[in-house]
Amino acid sequence: MLTVRNLISFNILILFSWNFAHAQMQFPEFTISKTEVEGHLRFLASDALQGRNTGSEGNRIAAAYIAAQLEAYGVQKPAATNSYFQPVDLEQIQPITQATLTWNKNTFKQKETLMMLRGKGGILNANAVFAGHGWVDEAQGINDYAGLDVKGKIVITNIGLPNDRSPQATFQAITKKRELAKAQGAIAVVELFQLGKNFWTLATNYFGNPSMELASTEDAPKDLPAYGWILEGDSKFSEEVKKGKKNKVVLTSNASSLEKIKSDNVIGVIYGSNPALREEYVVLSAHYDHVGVGKQGGGAYTEQDSIFNGARDNAFGTTALLTAAKALAAAPPERSVIILAVTGEEKGLLGSRYYANHPIFPLEKTIYNFNTDGAGYNAMDKVTIFGLGRTGTDSLLVKGAAEFGLAVNDDPAPEQGLFDRSDNVSFAAKGVPAITYSPGFTAFDESIMKYYHQVTDNPDTIDFDYLTLYAKAFSYTARLLANIPTRPFWVTGDKYEAAGKQLYSIE
Ligand SMILES: [Zn+2]
Repeated sequence: MLTVRNLISFNILILFSWNFAHAQMQFPEFTISKTEVEGHLRFLASDALQGRNTGSEGNRIAAAYIAAQLEAYGVQKPAATNSYFQPVDLEQIQPITQATLTWNKNTFKQKETLMMLRGKGGILNANAVFAGHGWVDEAQGINDYAGLDVKGKIVITNIGLPNDRSPQATFQAITKKRELAKAQGAIAVVELFQLGKNFWTLATNYFGNPSMELASTEDAPKDLPAYGWILEGDSKFSEEVKKGKKNKVVLTSNASSLEKIKSDNVIGVIYGSNPALREEYVVLSAHYDHVGVGKQGGGAYTEQDSIFNGARDNAFGTTALLTAAKALAAAPPERSVIILAVTGEEKGLLGSRYYANHPIFPLEKTIYNFNTDGAGYNAMDKVTIFGLGRTGTDSLLVKGAAEFGLAVNDDPAPEQGLFDRSDNVSFAAKGVPAITYSPGFTAFDESIMKYYHQVTDNPDTIDFDYLTLYAKAFSYTARLLANIPTRPFWVTGDKYEAAGKQLYSIE
Protein backbone atom coordinates (compact mmCIF):
# COMPACT_ATOMS: atom_id res chain seq x y z
CA MET A 1 0.00 0.00 0.00
CA LEU A 2 1.19 3.48 -0.81
CA THR A 3 1.11 6.33 1.68
CA VAL A 4 0.33 9.78 0.28
CA ARG A 5 3.89 10.73 0.73
CA ASN A 6 5.06 7.66 -1.17
CA LEU A 7 2.44 8.30 -3.82
CA ILE A 8 3.92 11.71 -4.54
CA SER A 9 7.41 10.36 -4.89
CA PHE A 10 6.03 7.52 -6.99
CA ASN A 11 4.54 10.08 -9.35
CA ILE A 12 7.79 11.97 -9.47
CA LEU A 13 9.50 8.72 -10.27
CA ILE A 14 7.06 8.02 -13.11
CA LEU A 15 7.53 11.52 -14.44
CA PHE A 16 11.27 11.12 -14.25
CA SER A 17 11.16 7.74 -16.01
CA TRP A 18 8.92 9.13 -18.68
CA ASN A 19 11.33 12.02 -19.32
CA PHE A 20 14.22 9.64 -19.43
CA ALA A 21 12.39 7.29 -21.79
CA HIS A 22 11.36 10.25 -23.90
CA ALA A 23 14.97 11.39 -24.24
CA GLN A 24 15.97 7.87 -25.19
CA MET A 25 13.33 7.77 -27.87
CA GLN A 26 14.46 11.12 -29.14
CA PHE A 27 18.09 10.41 -29.95
CA PRO A 28 19.64 7.00 -30.60
CA GLU A 29 22.96 8.01 -29.00
CA PHE A 30 21.29 8.00 -25.58
CA THR A 31 21.01 4.21 -25.80
CA ILE A 32 24.60 3.42 -26.85
CA SER A 33 25.43 0.32 -24.85
CA LYS A 34 28.54 -0.75 -23.03
CA THR A 35 28.38 -4.10 -24.84
CA GLU A 36 28.56 -2.34 -28.18
CA VAL A 37 31.48 -0.02 -27.40
CA GLU A 38 33.35 -2.83 -25.72
CA GLY A 39 32.99 -4.96 -28.86
CA HIS A 40 34.40 -2.26 -31.11
CA LEU A 41 37.32 -1.46 -28.86
CA ARG A 42 38.22 -5.06 -28.07
CA PHE A 43 38.37 -5.87 -31.77
CA LEU A 44 40.20 -2.73 -32.97
CA ALA A 45 42.79 -2.97 -30.20
CA SER A 46 43.11 -6.76 -30.32
CA ASP A 47 46.46 -8.50 -30.75
CA ALA A 48 45.12 -9.85 -34.05
CA LEU A 49 45.41 -6.35 -35.55
CA GLN A 50 49.08 -6.12 -34.58
CA GLY A 51 49.05 -2.47 -33.59
CA ARG A 52 47.43 -1.23 -36.85
CA ASN A 53 50.68 0.19 -38.23
CA THR A 54 50.03 2.27 -41.37
CA GLY A 55 50.22 0.06 -44.46
CA SER A 56 50.22 -3.21 -42.47
CA GLU A 57 47.70 -6.05 -42.73
CA GLY A 58 46.27 -5.14 -39.30
CA ASN A 59 45.79 -1.57 -40.49
CA ARG A 60 43.89 -2.81 -43.54
CA ILE A 61 41.70 -5.10 -41.43
CA ALA A 62 40.82 -2.19 -39.13
CA ALA A 63 39.81 -0.15 -42.18
CA ALA A 64 37.69 -3.02 -43.51
CA TYR A 65 35.99 -3.38 -40.10
CA ILE A 66 35.13 0.33 -39.98
CA ALA A 67 33.77 0.29 -43.55
CA ALA A 68 31.66 -2.80 -42.77
CA GLN A 69 30.13 -1.06 -39.74
CA LEU A 70 29.35 2.06 -41.78
CA GLU A 71 27.63 -0.04 -44.41
CA ALA A 72 25.58 -1.89 -41.80
CA TYR A 73 24.50 1.42 -40.23
CA GLY A 74 23.27 2.77 -43.55
CA VAL A 75 26.01 5.39 -43.76
CA GLN A 76 26.45 6.00 -47.48
CA LYS A 77 29.49 5.84 -49.72
CA PRO A 78 30.44 9.26 -51.08
CA ALA A 79 28.77 9.49 -54.50
CA ALA A 80 31.93 10.96 -56.06
CA THR A 81 33.98 7.82 -55.36
CA ASN A 82 31.31 5.17 -54.77
CA SER A 83 33.63 3.65 -52.17
CA TYR A 84 34.17 3.83 -48.42
CA PHE A 85 37.91 3.88 -49.08
CA GLN A 86 40.05 6.85 -50.06
CA PRO A 87 43.47 5.49 -51.07
CA VAL A 88 46.33 7.46 -49.52
CA ASP A 89 49.60 7.01 -51.42
CA LEU A 90 52.56 6.99 -49.11
CA GLU A 91 56.31 6.51 -49.28
CA GLN A 92 58.41 4.77 -46.71
CA ILE A 93 61.90 6.27 -46.84
CA GLN A 94 64.73 3.93 -45.90
CA PRO A 95 67.73 5.94 -44.77
CA ILE A 96 71.32 5.52 -45.91
CA THR A 97 73.00 3.26 -43.37
CA GLN A 98 76.61 3.32 -44.55
CA ALA A 99 78.64 6.20 -45.89
CA THR A 100 82.14 7.63 -45.60
CA LEU A 101 83.80 10.78 -46.81
CA THR A 102 87.58 10.63 -47.03
CA TRP A 103 89.71 13.78 -47.24
CA ASN A 104 93.50 13.62 -46.94
CA LYS A 105 93.96 11.21 -44.06
CA ASN A 106 90.60 11.93 -42.46
CA THR A 107 87.63 9.63 -42.72
CA PHE A 108 84.17 10.86 -41.73
CA LYS A 109 81.74 8.05 -41.02
CA GLN A 110 77.96 7.90 -41.31
CA LYS A 111 76.17 9.03 -38.13
CA GLU A 112 79.48 9.90 -36.43
CA THR A 113 80.57 13.06 -38.22
CA LEU A 114 78.87 12.48 -41.57
CA MET A 115 75.17 12.10 -42.30
CA MET A 116 74.25 11.32 -45.89
CA LEU A 117 70.46 11.61 -46.27
CA ARG A 118 69.77 11.05 -49.95
CA GLY A 119 71.52 9.44 -52.86
CA LYS A 120 71.57 6.43 -55.12
CA GLY A 121 74.77 5.07 -53.63
CA GLY A 122 78.19 4.26 -55.08
CA ILE A 123 81.61 5.87 -55.02
CA LEU A 124 82.16 9.51 -55.94
CA ASN A 125 85.79 10.49 -56.43
CA ALA A 126 85.89 14.22 -57.03
CA ASN A 127 87.04 17.67 -56.01
CA ALA A 128 85.15 19.42 -53.26
CA VAL A 129 84.27 23.04 -53.97
CA PHE A 130 82.91 25.51 -51.43
CA ALA A 131 79.85 27.45 -52.67
CA GLY A 132 78.61 29.70 -49.84
CA HIS A 133 75.11 28.56 -48.99
CA GLY A 134 74.68 26.91 -52.36
CA TRP A 135 71.84 29.34 -52.90
CA VAL A 136 70.60 31.41 -55.81
CA ASP A 137 67.98 34.13 -55.40
CA GLU A 138 68.03 36.61 -58.26
CA ALA A 139 65.56 38.98 -56.57
CA GLN A 140 67.86 39.34 -53.57
CA GLY A 141 70.98 39.45 -55.71
CA ILE A 142 72.28 36.15 -54.32
CA ASN A 143 74.17 33.74 -56.55
CA ASP A 144 76.54 31.53 -54.61
CA TYR A 145 77.56 29.78 -57.83
CA ALA A 146 78.71 32.94 -59.62
CA GLY A 147 82.18 32.38 -61.07
CA LEU A 148 82.40 28.79 -59.84
CA ASP A 149 82.80 25.67 -61.91
CA VAL A 150 81.23 22.80 -59.98
CA LYS A 151 80.58 20.47 -62.90
CA GLY A 152 81.27 16.89 -61.82
CA LYS A 153 82.27 18.13 -58.37
CA ILE A 154 81.05 17.81 -54.81
CA VAL A 155 79.65 21.09 -53.54
CA ILE A 156 80.29 21.97 -49.90
CA THR A 157 77.98 24.63 -48.46
CA ASN A 158 77.06 26.39 -45.26
CA ILE A 159 73.92 25.04 -43.71
CA GLY A 160 70.51 26.61 -44.37
CA LEU A 161 69.84 29.86 -46.19
CA PRO A 162 72.05 32.97 -46.39
CA ASN A 163 69.92 34.74 -43.78
CA ASP A 164 68.27 31.80 -42.02
CA ARG A 165 70.12 28.78 -40.72
CA SER A 166 67.30 27.56 -38.47
CA PRO A 167 66.63 23.80 -38.62
CA GLN A 168 63.27 24.48 -40.26
CA ALA A 169 64.79 26.58 -43.04
CA THR A 170 67.53 24.01 -43.45
CA PHE A 171 65.14 21.09 -43.91
CA GLN A 172 62.79 23.01 -46.17
CA ALA A 173 65.67 24.09 -48.43
CA ILE A 174 67.03 20.58 -49.04
CA THR A 175 65.27 19.83 -52.32
CA LYS A 176 65.82 23.33 -53.70
CA LYS A 177 69.53 23.19 -52.87
CA ARG A 178 69.86 19.87 -54.65
CA GLU A 179 68.04 21.27 -57.67
CA LEU A 180 70.32 24.32 -57.79
CA ALA A 181 73.40 22.11 -57.55
CA LYS A 182 72.08 19.85 -60.27
CA ALA A 183 71.55 22.84 -62.57
CA GLN A 184 75.28 23.58 -62.16
CA GLY A 185 76.26 19.99 -62.90
CA ALA A 186 77.38 19.07 -59.36
CA ILE A 187 77.23 15.42 -58.29
CA ALA A 188 76.69 15.88 -54.53
CA VAL A 189 75.86 18.53 -51.94
CA VAL A 190 77.35 18.27 -48.47
CA GLU A 191 76.35 20.95 -45.99
CA LEU A 192 78.59 21.96 -43.10
CA PHE A 193 76.43 21.17 -40.08
CA GLN A 194 76.76 24.30 -37.96
CA LEU A 195 73.88 23.76 -35.53
CA GLY A 196 75.91 22.22 -32.70
CA LYS A 197 76.68 18.76 -31.44
CA ASN A 198 73.49 18.27 -29.42
CA PHE A 199 71.32 18.99 -32.38
CA TRP A 200 73.56 16.79 -34.51
CA THR A 201 72.74 13.84 -32.25
CA LEU A 202 69.01 14.57 -32.40
CA ALA A 203 68.98 15.08 -36.15
CA THR A 204 71.06 12.01 -36.98
CA ASN A 205 68.86 9.82 -34.77
CA TYR A 206 65.74 11.16 -36.38
CA PHE A 207 66.95 10.87 -39.96
CA GLY A 208 68.63 7.54 -39.28
CA ASN A 209 65.22 5.88 -38.89
CA PRO A 210 62.75 5.02 -41.63
CA SER A 211 60.15 7.73 -42.05
CA MET A 212 56.88 7.97 -43.94
CA GLU A 213 55.54 10.75 -46.10
CA LEU A 214 52.71 11.38 -48.52
CA ALA A 215 53.93 10.24 -51.93
CA SER A 216 55.52 13.16 -53.72
CA THR A 217 53.98 14.28 -56.95
CA GLU A 218 57.12 16.14 -57.95
CA ASP A 219 59.65 14.65 -60.35
CA ALA A 220 61.46 11.69 -58.91
CA PRO A 221 64.05 13.09 -56.53
CA LYS A 222 66.42 10.20 -57.29
CA ASP A 223 67.91 12.14 -60.19
CA LEU A 224 69.09 14.88 -57.86
CA PRO A 225 72.66 14.97 -56.49
CA ALA A 226 73.44 13.00 -53.32
CA TYR A 227 72.86 15.07 -50.21
CA GLY A 228 74.14 15.07 -46.65
CA TRP A 229 75.85 16.88 -43.80
CA ILE A 230 79.31 16.90 -42.33
CA LEU A 231 79.79 18.00 -38.73
CA GLU A 232 81.77 21.23 -38.71
CA GLY A 233 84.48 21.67 -36.13
CA ASP A 234 85.71 18.09 -36.03
CA SER A 235 88.59 18.70 -38.42
CA LYS A 236 90.22 21.38 -40.54
CA PHE A 237 88.13 20.18 -43.46
CA SER A 238 85.77 23.13 -43.63
CA GLU A 239 88.55 25.71 -43.20
CA GLU A 240 90.59 24.16 -45.99
CA VAL A 241 87.61 23.82 -48.31
CA LYS A 242 86.60 27.43 -47.66
CA LYS A 243 90.12 28.53 -48.69
CA GLY A 244 89.30 27.18 -52.14
CA LYS A 245 92.40 25.04 -52.71
CA LYS A 246 92.11 21.76 -54.52
CA ASN A 247 90.51 19.27 -52.13
CA LYS A 248 90.12 15.77 -53.42
CA VAL A 249 87.51 13.73 -51.56
CA VAL A 250 86.05 10.28 -51.92
CA LEU A 251 82.41 9.90 -50.95
CA THR A 252 80.96 6.40 -50.72
CA SER A 253 77.53 5.35 -49.60
CA ASN A 254 74.76 2.85 -50.03
CA ALA A 255 71.46 4.05 -51.44
CA SER A 256 68.51 5.63 -49.75
CA SER A 257 65.32 4.07 -50.99
CA LEU A 258 61.66 4.76 -51.29
CA GLU A 259 59.08 2.07 -50.83
CA LYS A 260 55.51 2.71 -51.95
CA ILE A 261 53.00 2.09 -49.16
CA LYS A 262 49.25 1.86 -49.57
CA SER A 263 46.73 2.67 -46.88
CA ASP A 264 43.24 4.11 -46.86
CA ASN A 265 41.12 6.70 -45.17
CA VAL A 266 37.61 5.32 -44.55
CA ILE A 267 34.82 7.75 -45.44
CA GLY A 268 31.05 7.69 -45.30
CA VAL A 269 28.33 10.32 -45.44
CA ILE A 270 25.02 10.81 -43.65
CA TYR A 271 22.89 13.27 -45.58
CA GLY A 272 21.25 16.01 -43.55
CA SER A 273 17.50 16.08 -42.87
CA ASN A 274 17.08 19.78 -43.68
CA PRO A 275 17.09 20.38 -47.46
CA ALA A 276 18.29 23.94 -46.88
CA LEU A 277 21.33 22.77 -44.91
CA ARG A 278 22.24 19.36 -46.29
CA GLU A 279 24.85 20.86 -48.63
CA GLU A 280 26.79 21.88 -45.53
CA TYR A 281 29.02 19.32 -43.84
CA VAL A 282 30.38 18.55 -40.41
CA VAL A 283 33.37 16.19 -40.49
CA LEU A 284 33.65 13.76 -37.60
CA SER A 285 37.12 12.23 -37.56
CA ALA A 286 39.33 9.82 -35.66
CA HIS A 287 42.59 8.15 -36.62
CA TYR A 288 42.43 4.36 -36.63
CA ASP A 289 46.13 3.63 -37.22
CA HIS A 290 48.65 3.07 -34.45
CA VAL A 291 52.35 2.26 -34.27
CA GLY A 292 52.57 -1.51 -34.83
CA VAL A 293 54.74 -4.15 -33.25
CA GLY A 294 58.19 -4.46 -31.69
CA LYS A 295 60.70 -1.85 -32.71
CA GLN A 296 58.12 -0.12 -34.95
CA GLY A 297 56.42 1.01 -31.75
CA GLY A 298 59.29 3.16 -30.56
CA GLY A 299 58.84 2.11 -26.92
CA ALA A 300 59.92 -0.71 -24.65
CA TYR A 301 58.61 -4.19 -25.40
CA THR A 302 59.23 -7.78 -24.42
CA GLU A 303 58.98 -11.12 -26.15
CA GLN A 304 55.76 -11.81 -24.19
CA ASP A 305 54.18 -8.51 -25.22
CA SER A 306 55.46 -6.70 -28.26
CA ILE A 307 52.13 -5.41 -29.62
CA PHE A 308 51.30 -1.73 -29.29
CA ASN A 309 47.53 -2.24 -29.15
CA GLY A 310 46.62 1.43 -29.06
CA ALA A 311 43.40 0.92 -27.10
CA ARG A 312 43.39 4.55 -25.94
CA ASP A 313 45.31 5.79 -28.98
CA ASN A 314 42.98 5.65 -30.84
CA ALA A 315 40.64 2.62 -30.76
CA PHE A 316 38.88 4.68 -28.08
CA GLY A 317 38.16 7.58 -30.42
CA THR A 318 37.43 5.27 -33.36
CA THR A 319 34.79 3.58 -31.21
CA ALA A 320 33.18 6.95 -30.47
CA LEU A 321 33.27 7.74 -34.20
CA LEU A 322 31.45 4.46 -34.97
CA THR A 323 28.77 5.04 -32.34
CA ALA A 324 28.20 8.54 -33.69
CA ALA A 325 27.93 7.14 -37.23
CA LYS A 326 25.30 4.64 -36.12
CA ALA A 327 23.25 7.11 -34.05
CA LEU A 328 23.32 9.90 -36.64
CA ALA A 329 22.50 7.54 -39.51
CA ALA A 330 19.47 6.30 -37.57
CA ALA A 331 18.20 9.86 -36.98
CA PRO A 332 20.05 12.33 -39.21
CA PRO A 333 20.68 15.88 -37.97
CA GLU A 334 19.95 18.90 -40.16
CA ARG A 335 23.34 19.22 -41.85
CA SER A 336 25.17 16.37 -43.55
CA VAL A 337 27.82 14.56 -41.53
CA ILE A 338 31.00 13.06 -42.96
CA ILE A 339 32.42 10.11 -41.06
CA LEU A 340 36.19 10.11 -41.62
CA ALA A 341 38.47 7.46 -40.10
CA VAL A 342 42.00 8.50 -41.05
CA THR A 343 45.21 6.54 -41.40
CA GLY A 344 48.85 7.61 -40.97
CA GLU A 345 48.29 9.88 -37.98
CA GLU A 346 51.21 8.39 -36.09
CA LYS A 347 53.48 8.99 -39.11
CA GLY A 348 52.76 12.72 -39.12
CA LEU A 349 49.00 13.32 -39.55
CA LEU A 350 49.30 11.98 -43.10
CA GLY A 351 45.76 10.67 -43.70
CA SER A 352 44.03 13.84 -42.51
CA ARG A 353 46.51 15.99 -44.46
CA TYR A 354 45.75 13.92 -47.53
CA TYR A 355 42.00 14.35 -47.09
CA ALA A 356 42.34 18.11 -46.54
CA ASN A 357 44.38 18.34 -49.75
CA HIS A 358 41.99 16.03 -51.66
CA PRO A 359 38.61 16.65 -50.04
CA ILE A 360 35.75 14.53 -51.35
CA PHE A 361 33.22 17.12 -50.13
CA PRO A 362 34.09 20.80 -50.72
CA LEU A 363 36.01 22.33 -47.82
CA GLU A 364 34.27 25.68 -48.25
CA LYS A 365 31.02 23.85 -47.45
CA THR A 366 32.62 21.99 -44.55
CA ILE A 367 31.62 24.03 -41.54
CA TYR A 368 33.40 22.13 -38.77
CA ASN A 369 35.81 19.32 -37.96
CA PHE A 370 35.04 17.46 -34.74
CA ASN A 371 38.03 15.17 -34.22
CA THR A 372 38.52 12.65 -31.43
CA ASP A 373 41.94 11.45 -30.31
CA GLY A 374 43.85 11.20 -27.08
CA ALA A 375 46.91 10.06 -25.23
CA GLY A 376 44.86 8.52 -22.40
CA TYR A 377 42.75 9.62 -19.47
CA ASN A 378 43.06 10.25 -15.76
CA ALA A 379 39.80 12.12 -15.10
CA MET A 380 36.71 10.04 -15.84
CA ASP A 381 34.37 12.82 -14.76
CA LYS A 382 35.27 14.92 -17.79
CA VAL A 383 36.30 15.23 -21.40
CA THR A 384 39.20 17.40 -22.50
CA ILE A 385 38.93 19.70 -25.48
CA PHE A 386 41.83 20.99 -27.53
CA GLY A 387 40.52 24.18 -29.05
CA LEU A 388 38.05 25.15 -26.30
CA GLY A 389 37.34 28.87 -26.52
CA ARG A 390 38.45 29.12 -30.14
CA THR A 391 35.53 28.25 -32.41
CA GLY A 392 32.49 29.81 -30.72
CA THR A 393 30.97 26.40 -29.93
CA ASP A 394 31.77 26.11 -26.20
CA SER A 395 28.16 26.18 -25.01
CA LEU A 396 27.30 23.17 -27.22
CA LEU A 397 30.43 21.31 -26.17
CA VAL A 398 29.55 21.83 -22.52
CA LYS A 399 25.92 20.86 -23.06
CA GLY A 400 26.76 17.68 -24.99
CA ALA A 401 28.98 16.43 -22.18
CA ALA A 402 26.79 17.61 -19.31
CA GLU A 403 23.90 15.51 -20.63
CA PHE A 404 25.89 12.47 -19.51
CA GLY A 405 27.27 13.97 -16.32
CA LEU A 406 30.64 14.90 -17.79
CA ALA A 407 32.41 18.22 -17.33
CA VAL A 408 34.61 19.81 -19.98
CA ASN A 409 38.14 21.05 -19.44
CA ASP A 410 40.62 22.87 -21.63
CA ASP A 411 44.01 21.58 -22.74
CA PRO A 412 45.92 21.14 -19.45
CA ALA A 413 49.32 21.07 -21.17
CA PRO A 414 49.31 23.87 -23.76
CA GLU A 415 53.13 23.81 -23.85
CA GLN A 416 52.84 20.44 -25.66
CA GLY A 417 51.09 22.12 -28.59
CA LEU A 418 48.64 19.22 -28.90
CA PHE A 419 46.09 21.26 -30.85
CA ASP A 420 48.62 21.48 -33.66
CA ARG A 421 49.73 17.85 -33.27
CA SER A 422 46.35 16.19 -33.89
CA ASP A 423 44.42 15.58 -37.08
CA ASN A 424 42.17 18.60 -36.47
CA VAL A 425 45.09 20.81 -37.53
CA SER A 426 44.90 19.48 -41.09
CA PHE A 427 41.46 21.11 -41.28
CA ALA A 428 42.36 24.16 -39.18
CA ALA A 429 45.27 24.96 -41.49
CA LYS A 430 42.76 25.15 -44.36
CA GLY A 431 40.54 27.44 -42.29
CA VAL A 432 37.85 24.98 -41.15
CA PRO A 433 37.01 25.48 -37.44
CA ALA A 434 38.39 22.29 -35.92
CA ILE A 435 38.85 20.88 -32.44
CA THR A 436 40.00 17.63 -30.87
CA TYR A 437 37.81 15.92 -28.27
CA SER A 438 39.80 13.76 -25.86
CA PRO A 439 39.22 11.49 -22.90
CA GLY A 440 39.50 13.53 -19.69
CA PHE A 441 42.96 14.33 -18.47
CA THR A 442 44.40 16.92 -16.16
CA ALA A 443 48.16 16.57 -16.68
CA PHE A 444 50.72 14.49 -18.56
CA ASP A 445 51.43 12.54 -15.41
CA GLU A 446 52.51 9.01 -14.60
CA SER A 447 48.99 7.64 -15.11
CA ILE A 448 49.03 8.83 -18.74
CA MET A 449 52.62 7.96 -19.57
CA LYS A 450 52.13 4.41 -18.23
CA TYR A 451 50.03 3.66 -21.34
CA TYR A 452 50.89 6.37 -23.87
CA HIS A 453 52.55 4.62 -26.85
CA GLN A 454 53.30 1.60 -24.65
CA VAL A 455 52.54 -2.09 -25.15
CA THR A 456 50.41 -1.82 -21.99
CA ASP A 457 47.76 0.24 -23.82
CA ASN A 458 45.55 -2.82 -24.28
CA PRO A 459 41.77 -3.40 -24.02
CA ASP A 460 41.86 -4.99 -20.57
CA THR A 461 42.98 -1.70 -19.05
CA ILE A 462 40.04 0.29 -20.41
CA ASP A 463 37.15 1.44 -18.23
CA PHE A 464 34.22 0.55 -20.48
CA ASP A 465 31.67 2.47 -18.42
CA TYR A 466 33.69 5.60 -19.09
CA LEU A 467 34.09 4.75 -22.77
CA THR A 468 30.28 4.36 -23.00
CA LEU A 469 29.72 7.83 -21.52
CA TYR A 470 32.44 9.27 -23.73
CA ALA A 471 30.89 7.73 -26.86
CA LYS A 472 27.46 9.09 -25.91
CA ALA A 473 28.85 12.56 -25.26
CA PHE A 474 30.82 12.60 -28.51
CA SER A 475 27.85 11.37 -30.55
CA TYR A 476 25.35 13.76 -29.00
CA THR A 477 27.75 16.71 -29.28
CA ALA A 478 28.24 15.82 -32.96
CA ARG A 479 24.48 16.10 -33.38
CA LEU A 480 24.38 19.48 -31.65
CA LEU A 481 27.19 20.74 -33.89
CA ALA A 482 25.46 19.53 -37.06
CA ASN A 483 22.28 21.35 -35.93
CA ILE A 484 24.01 24.57 -34.85
CA PRO A 485 21.85 27.56 -35.93
CA THR A 486 24.69 29.74 -37.23
CA ARG A 487 27.89 28.43 -38.74
CA PRO A 488 30.76 28.43 -36.26
CA PHE A 489 33.90 30.46 -36.88
CA TRP A 490 37.30 31.11 -35.33
CA VAL A 491 37.28 33.75 -32.59
CA THR A 492 38.83 37.07 -33.50
CA GLY A 493 42.61 36.96 -33.47
CA ASP A 494 42.87 33.17 -33.67
CA LYS A 495 45.88 31.73 -35.47
CA TYR A 496 43.55 30.19 -38.10
CA GLU A 497 41.14 33.11 -38.50
CA ALA A 498 42.81 34.40 -41.67
CA ALA A 499 42.76 30.96 -43.29
CA GLY A 500 39.07 30.67 -42.41
CA LYS A 501 38.25 34.03 -43.97
CA GLN A 502 40.00 33.00 -47.12
CA LEU A 503 38.31 29.59 -47.28
CA TYR A 504 34.82 30.92 -46.76
CA SER A 505 35.38 34.21 -48.66
CA ILE A 506 34.56 36.29 -45.58
CA GLU A 507 35.51 39.97 -45.70
ZN1 LIG B 1 49.69 8.23 -30.92
